[in-house]
Amino acid sequence: MKRIICFLLILFPISMNAQNKPEKLQALPFGSIKPAGWVKIQVQSDIEGFVGNLDKLVPDLMNDPIYSTGRLQKNSKAKDLGNLKEGDAAGDEQYKWWNSETQSNWWDGYIRNVFLLDDEKGIEKVNLYIQDILETQDEDGYIGIYSPELRYRFDGENGELWAKATLYRGLLAYYEATNDQKVWNALIKAVDNVMLNYPVNASSPFSSGNSFNGGVSHGLTFTDILEKMYQLTGNVKYRQYALFLYHDFSETYQSEGDVQLTNILDSAYKLKSHGVHTYEHLRPLIVAAYASDDNVLNNALNIYLARIAKTTTPSGGAIGDEWIAGRSADATHTGYEYCSLHELMDGYTMLLQKSGKALVADDAEKIFYNAAQGSRNPDHSCIAYLKTDNSYEMLGTKNGEVEADRKQTRYKYSPAHQDVAVCCSPNAGRITPYFVQSSWMKQADTLVATVLMPNILNTTINNNNIQIENETGYPYQNSFVFKIKMEKPATLKIKIRKPGWVEEIITDETFMLEGDFLVIERKFRESDNITLEFKTSVKIHQDNNHEKYFTYGALVFAHPIPSKQIKTKEYLKGFDDLSYEPLDNTRYLFSEKNDAIYRKGRIEAGFINEATKTLEILYLEPVGKTILRQTTFR
Ligand SMILES: [Zn+2]
Repeated sequence: MKRIICFLLILFPISMNAQNKPEKLQALPFGSIKPAGWVKIQVQSDIEGFVGNLDKLVPDLMNDPIYSTGRLQKNSKAKDLGNLKEGDAAGDEQYKWWNSETQSNWWDGYIRNVFLLDDEKGIEKVNLYIQDILETQDEDGYIGIYSPELRYRFDGENGELWAKATLYRGLLAYYEATNDQKVWNALIKAVDNVMLNYPVNASSPFSSGNSFNGGVSHGLTFTDILEKMYQLTGNVKYRQYALFLYHDFSETYQSEGDVQLTNILDSAYKLKSHGVHTYEHLRPLIVAAYASDDNVLNNALNIYLARIAKTTTPSGGAIGDEWIAGRSADATHTGYEYCSLHELMDGYTMLLQKSGKALVADDAEKIFYNAAQGSRNPDHSCIAYLKTDNSYEMLGTKNGEVEADRKQTRYKYSPAHQDVAVCCSPNAGRITPYFVQSSWMKQADTLVATVLMPNILNTTINNNNIQIENETGYPYQNSFVFKIKMEKPATLKIKIRKPGWVEEIITDETFMLEGDFLVIERKFRESDNITLEFKTSVKIHQDNNHEKYFTYGALVFAHPIPSKQIKTKEYLKGFDDLSYEPLDNTRYLFSEKNDAIYRKGRIEAGFINEATKTLEILYLEPVGKTILRQTTFR
């Protein structure tokens, strides 16, 4: 591999103006970390449930040959996706490319889930899909959704880069899992085709007129592909191209322009774009900042992160219902979209890799273990499109609020949400494998446990094959046994992240603290263990609106509200749309005399019943185990 990199560097010498900012950690290839424990059980049930069956739930969307015989042409019409389109400000043009996102995001999640489970039947299905996609590649390398007369020549909304970003992410995962050279060669040619047709610093891929261009704007995430290609090859041309894309995006008209440099540097600017765009655009900004090590971009990244923090509720859910519209987070009144949860979590884990900052991992865990788990239905295979931290009903609207311009149906549980858009279900299939992939990283020869969870790592250090299983019920328990198996005994340096809420570390190991990482370095036997426990206590926090909420470790807790389940649609047997009506409308107020204590997975605490003004003991559950709930208390 080393020799190939040297050869590539000769072909593409580092440009004088691209100074990489040093990165603290290195990502591991997809497939080297597998889920274990409860996470594996959940992935298995997702594959047996909505993730594994989405192609059967919305066959028309999945079978549209948009990348092959049905590529878009001059006279292509907007497609009927079976949704209501009510209050849809974005217009018809997006409905032409939309099936590419649905299909490719779904396949990306599906590919990753079946490889993580070593699911042979699923992998067979994936192999056929990959073969079909490779067959769509034109002689010149093009893999995408447009016929030759349209591609790379647009003056309005289009999905050229977005359709590629979503598809190539799956191809990259497949390549990393299988090392299939055919796929790798196809990717190199396909990315080269983009770079040839939109030449670096001599074209404007994001120029598309001056009206809604959500698909063009999604296309900025093509930097995900460039970043991965850079990681795999060390070739700086991919990074320089990513930097070029960010600058072109900043300098052209964008309807979803929160991440544009001038907007970031405008101190009066408030985030207002479509939430998913705003959060997925964190990644291109991170890549641009690290590709250039430019002070302006480094500063812009910090400003952008601070703005996102203001849109984030206690569970980690950032406003996405669907435009941010200048608002700040509110536990009752701002909803978050499942797509946004995945995109922001993926941004935080990228920042964790580059900055090495342990606190960023706290943000990623907060989203995954709270907002995202709390948007899944704990009893059925379906998810909420939109959800709020205080969720007093799930009957379509946001806690009963009527919206003048549309019939809101996103606040319910569905395996597909076809009446709105089939975007959140595919992303709900992506979030877990992406989270798992970020749970171990490397720092030269040091192994770093970054995001904590039950998992199994397989890697090599100095030609020694190493397996480490993190046996834990985290975050429902805060104790860990890292079971290490090696080919031969060796001295290892292992870093384990200490989350921000840890009060005491219990272990027999000798360790040092390096920032927020425990560093353990010693000789390990072929079969060895690290046993570790983090002690903490119930913590009471205050959100932006001076409302109180309770955490224990990585988990946010809520008062579960009993509800009646209503089935509103059946896709297929066992796959239903479900709504929830509260059986009790009591609200509770915070009491200073709460005597909160953590016992057996719950927080017991005293609250004031708003109606009777009396103190009652409530048993709070992790947000991720609730449907209707009160999370914050005035
Ligand atoms: Zn969505």
